[in-house]
Amino acid sequence: MKIFDTHCHYNMSPLYENWQGYWQEAREAGVEKSLVAGADLETSWRAREMANEEESLLASGGFHPTFWLEREGRDFVLTEEKAREIVDEVKKGLKKMQEKKWEAVGECGLEYWKLTKREDWELIKATQQKVFALHLDWAKKSKLPLLLHMRGEDDGVYEDALAMIENADKSMACVWHCMGASSELVAKVGKLKNHYISLAGNVTFRNAKNLQELVGLIPKNRLLVETDAPYLTPVPYRGKWPNEPKNIVATVQFLADNFGVDPKTVYNNSERIMKKN
Ligand SMILES: [Zn+2]
Repeated sequence: MKIFDTHCHYNMSPLYENWQGYWQEAREAGVEKSLVAGADLETSWRAREMANEEESLLASGGFHPTFWLEREGRDFVLTEEKAREIVDEVKKGLKKMQEKKWEAVGECGLEYWKLTKREDWELIKATQQKVFALHLDWAKKSKLPLLLHMRGEDDGVYEDALAMIENADKSMACVWHCMGASSELVAKVGKLKNHYISLAGNVTFRNAKNLQELVGLIPKNRLLVETDAPYLTPVPYRGKWPNEPKNIVATVQFLADNFGVDPKTVYNNSERIMKKN
């Protein structure tokens, strides 16, 4: 079984401290290639360095929609001044990244989950959209696939993102990482040329019925798999920290056993969208 892990964080702790070891184990388990996803300037550079060192690793560069919130702490209240600083930081960071070669732009996108009731929500939302628009510009210009991170619940996050993407360039190559949208939206995305939907270990969870219902809606030639390691450890390893990249085998097997998803088709889909530069 050949596997392409389209979203993994060898560049983040605790995988980073022994990333060669985790990568070696993943390879032995059948992982042929892996995209290391950047989430800020530091993790993007790490991804780039790893991909320079290892032929079968690919790198994406970008800023996660809540990168600044993780850094400042969830209690941090956004001000106009700080919002300007964040956008400026991303602008400069992306400019610097563009001096190098990459295989994808991201992870980037919008995250509304647990944020919409905050007093600074409108400003957070506007800031996230500005930051996301900068990534859209880069992806459009470079023709690199966009690695999308979206998180929300009936709050319009997917609709907002889709509107921004369609506004930038409808035919832009996109990977919807760790997809959790409604069935209507998944059907809509599946109809867009060059849009791919990636499933992570959470699809194996016993209580993930909603997510499992989406599997059949994703066109077979648009389905991808990922670990999102160190997060989202799949069954039967659920509860273990960190999720190890080699555990992706359990997700691939789960999709094959329960939904007839052919691992070879999924691998070929990944190859079609992800090319090493
Ligand atoms: Zn990620």
